[in-house]
Amino acid sequence: MPKNIILLGPPGAGKGTQAKRLEAERNMVQLSTGDMLREAKSSGTEMGRRVAEIMDKGQLVTDEIVIGLIEEKLEQGAAARDFGGFIFDGFPRTLKQADALEDLMARKGQTLDAVIEMQVDDAALVRRITGRFTCGNCGAVYHDETKPTRVAGTCDVCGSTDLRRRADDNEEALKTRLMEYYKKTSPLIGYYYAKGKLAAVDGLGEMDAVAAAIAKVLDKG
Ligand code: ADP
Ligand code: ZN
Repeated sequence: MPKNIILLGPPGAGKGTQAKRLEAERNMVQLSTGDMLREAKSSGTEMGRRVAEIMDKGQLVTDEIVIGLIEEKLEQGAAARDFGGFIFDGFPRTLKQADALEDLMARKGQTLDAVIEMQVDDAALVRRITGRFTCGNCGAVYHDETKPTRVAGTCDVCGSTDLRRRADDNEEALKTRLMEYYKKTSPLIGYYYAKGKLAAVDGLGEMDAVAAAIAKVLDKG
């Protein structure tokens, strides 16, 4: 049976990393509104320009835009054979988005199986994010201190020299992103707890330990 889950947590909690693993290991499909918006941003459209301005400051894009994006992807996603379920990564981020997701899922006869809260302390987030860069070609994630490339300027995985930093991975934007998280997204922890869907996972451990904790939630019931 496919399982649909939400990965919930502050910026830098490791949602994207774990989502990629779940895709590889369980045939799940990652729906990252951050990735979708970055795509829109680089599309050169008017909507893209508006989105870029908001994202680069670290603020949240309007609910209407992200709900529209998710709706589109939900239509396309589940068609694959051996479909393992959706991983919502970076969505929902507001109570309004959470309500919209519930409506969308109900309309499609789907259920939300678990909401996994990835817990990380704030100091760790700042360290993780301000050193972060990724390969523009294959998506591999690196860190200046904890995971540099073997050869400076070259991706270990694919050899590309197109290494990038996100425009919002700087201290100023990060402060705004954290504030947005605490003001608008963290109420979702209580929201899903009350619905009986919340499971907390320690996001500070090794990548494998975090993955194992998530697997335990997924394999239970
Ligand atoms: P992170 O969680 O590391 O901050 P994301 O890639 O998930 O990064 O999101 C980057 C930016 O995209 C956010 O700071 C915000 O501007 C925008 N964004 C992503 N998802 C949403 C959402 N569900 N609602 C509103 N804005 C969003
Ligand atoms: Zn690469």
